[in-house]
Amino acid sequence: MSAARTPRGAAPPCPICGKPAAPALAPFCSERCADIDLGRWLSDRYVIPAADEDGDGAPPRDPEPDRKS
Ligand SMILES: [Zn+2]
Repeated sequence: MSAARTPRGAAPPCPICGKPAAPALAPFCSERCADIDLGRWLSDRYVIPAADEDGDGAPPRDPEPDRKS
């Protein structure tokens, strides 16, 4: 139990904004960035189908995926 688990200054930066990651939110620096990454992952992985939010029919879909960063 003498070896340090994480060496100092070796913490990877936040993949979203590049700021030093928070230990509690690693690898993100904040919940905001973690949420952004989650949103990206979901939208990038697949288009979320009309789950149980509307169940009315086909939602209006954009002909082109917007690039927001
Ligand atoms: Zn961040």
